Amino acid sequence: MLSLFRTLYIVLNLCFSSVISYSSLVQCDESTFQFKFSLPNGRLTKVPTFLYKSTHFCTLADISHSVFPGSTYNPIKSMIKLRNGDLTCKSGNTFVELKSHGQSYIAAMQFPALYKQEILAVPIQSFLKALSNLGIISTTKIDENTYSLSSVENPVLAGTFAAETVNEYQDITDQDESLSAIDQKQHESFNNELYKDPSTEHVNNIIHSIPGHYVIPENLHHSEDELMNTSHQNNEEKKEELKSIEQLSIEAEISGKGQIAITNATISAKDSHIHILFNSVMSISSYQKPEFSGREIIVRFPNTINGIRDLSSLIDGDPIVSFKTEQIKTYLLYKIRLKHEIKSVSIKKILSNQISLSIEYTPTTPIPKPSITEKKKWELDVIVVDPGHGGEDAGALSINGYKEKDIALAIAKKVRDQLKESLPSTRVIMTRTDDTFIELYRRGHIANQYKGKLFISIHCNSMPTKPHQANGCESYILRSGRNSEAVRVAEKENGSIKLEKEQSSYEDLNEEKLIVATMAQAAFVRFSERFAALLQKNVAKNTKMYNRGVNQAGFLVLVGASMPNVLFETGFLSNSTDEKILISDAGQNNIAAGIVKAIITYSEDIIGNSH
Ligand SMILES: [Zn+2]
Repeated sequence: MLSLFRTLYIVLNLCFSSVISYSSLVQCDESTFQFKFSLPNGRLTKVPTFLYKSTHFCTLADISHSVFPGSTYNPIKSMIKLRNGDLTCKSGNTFVELKSHGQSYIAAMQFPALYKQEILAVPIQSFLKALSNLGIISTTKIDENTYSLSSVENPVLAGTFAAETVNEYQDITDQDESLSAIDQKQHESFNNELYKDPSTEHVNNIIHSIPGHYVIPENLHHSEDELMNTSHQNNEEKKEELKSIEQLSIEAEISGKGQIAITNATISAKDSHIHILFNSVMSISSYQKPEFSGREIIVRFPNTINGIRDLSSLIDGDPIVSFKTEQIKTYLLYKIRLKHEIKSVSIKKILSNQISLSIEYTPTTPIPKPSITEKKKWELDVIVVDPGHGGEDAGALSINGYKEKDIALAIAKKVRDQLKESLPSTRVIMTRTDDTFIELYRRGHIANQYKGKLFISIHCNSMPTKPHQANGCESYILRSGRNSEAVRVAEKENGSIKLEKEQSSYEDLNEEKLIVATMAQAAFVRFSERFAALLQKNVAKNTKMYNRGVNQAGFLVLVGASMPNVLFETGFLSNSTDEKILISDAGQNNIAAGIVKAIITYSEDIIGNSH
């Protein structure tokens, strides 16, 4: 019989707070309707409903009493006790949970359950749908207000609709205002449970929620302010709860489309360990072993989409510096960057719709404080400026036909000249000063040969189609490029090797080699990052260009340089606004000035040079 459950959304911890936005209840329509149900044993029963936002809601108590005559209802737990299973709903929550024989099954409703004064109401149509998803009953809509319920061969319900039980219960239509015998029995059973339950203070309210006599509570019509006052929560919590309800409706929306979506992530961090729980409404069918390198980790979920709306709320600065998502075809990627080097990572399925990611990191001091010898080591006595491309390698072409190699050289020369003025005691090495072709590997060799302490490779970005709206400056440090944009830029810049005579000088820059190269650079990667951040800030400020931030990718030109190094994409030749800046003398001067300002600040801040 468990095969009946194959379509279910399975186990979920119903951990959402059991609250609902009271203010949203204000729009309730007072007029009550009745839904008629034709039960499998041939009896007809009626359940009162109320309209909220054009949706019919019934109380769980009424459903228990009328639709499942053999059941009992526990209002404290908002639970219908069936023959061999328990059905639970939670306020503010779209889920219907069935617990049976130690197993838990979940189906989602389209709207969350509403809750007020110990009364829990569910959107009846989607609740019935959920029951049918749970394999409890199947439902046929007869007309607008009438449903025919058919029993399915479900052990949970066995006997619930059996003919011999008919006489035990009265039809709801036959009932008077007093509690019937069965109501009394239910009442006792509630109270028995209540004595075991610490929250006995609600006893008085519970009596009113005995099934069958439901009217819309008057206080549903209270103003938002009043309701806020009756709440024991402060406004902060209220905001939180509103947010969670919004999230729930997103979940419902996504689940309705039948697409697996990660809808929520919770993060806890303590003692160099981070635990991230990825939640989905539906069962997460597969996930991949996460990859990590340095401070970044990537988790992939095949055939999944992202449903977390505000990823930035997951960033706390320490330990999580950034939390990004990317969709590569059917793969959902989460890229998490930490403030610290990652030591180990593990992933496992906790529940069918919940994946736990555990990260252990090595705590590092937030701002590098170089020792005296380290300061000496990185003292900016030699700076290597590398104008990208040259000779037969023109690099990218601008909208109006200007060449990247010329612009890069012009900016590099301006950097050199300005540096001579600002840092007169620093030696500036250029990898080329004219229009000649220099192999990528040689650029790093030159830098090493002159014992460079900082390497900056100057380039211009470009999109394959021109004109293009992509714009702004961007810095790259050497890491395996994980995002498609970084890989595109790396492929573009690495393309220079096609023009080189001895391509065998390069081993294939596969992932593994790149990680080794990256590790070789680990000693100064924090300097590279710091310099890249300064470059971005200063150039964007000087030129008013868009700041695209610091990215990482596998650049061949950076592989060989044994010093802090950055590849700087000044702007987009394929963008008309950027092009104007890049080709003009004033624009180039501003870019160069930004680069020089970044070098000076870097030198002062990090290296502690006394220029
Ligand atoms: Zn380039």
